[in-house]
Amino acid sequence: MPTYVRTDKCDGCKGQDKTACMYICPHDLMKLDKDGSETGHAMKAYNQEPEQCWECYSCVKICPQNAIEVRHYADIVPLGASVQPLRGSDSIMWTIKFRNGNMKRFKFPIRTTPEGSIEPYAGKPKPNMADIDKPGFFTMTSLKGDKSQLIRL
Ligand code: SF4
Ligand code: SF4
Repeated sequence: MPTYVRTDKCDGCKGQDKTACMYICPHDLMKLDKDGSETGHAMKAYNQEPEQCWECYSCVKICPQNAIEVRHYADIVPLGASVQPLRGSDSIMWTIKFRNGNMKRFKFPIRTTPEGSIEPYAGKPKPNMADIDKPGFFTMTSLKGDKSQLIRL
């Protein structure tokens, strides 16, 4: 079931061209309604294709305002209940609200190193483009590869 944005909390990521939820959504579903012409809420994000939402929670976790929530399937999370994460730099807290008013919180560590400290290429050899011609490095089925087809960033 899809996400929805709480307009009372969303600040449109302070008017940046690409909001955090737009940046992270793997399905490109989140959109900022800059002038309010699409939702009636200017500078608030919204899920433009709710039926396509994977409920992956990426946007929920990245939103700096904790403005995104998820409507769950009623057989998993009954009406009136909610499951909401709050991501910190070293842990994530899940708040589970039951529809009888009970609430439980679970906090889990999410990393073993300080945020921003990872060097993904540390200890790895530098790439050598000449290697691309070697068998097994770049092939199209059984044919020799065509370097022009490489995507370069
Ligand atoms: S990430 Fe949160 S605050 Fe930023 S635009 Fe999306 S819903 Fe609004
Ligand atoms: S829950 Fe996942 S798929 Fe759905 S809008 Fe958020 S980031 Fe996109």
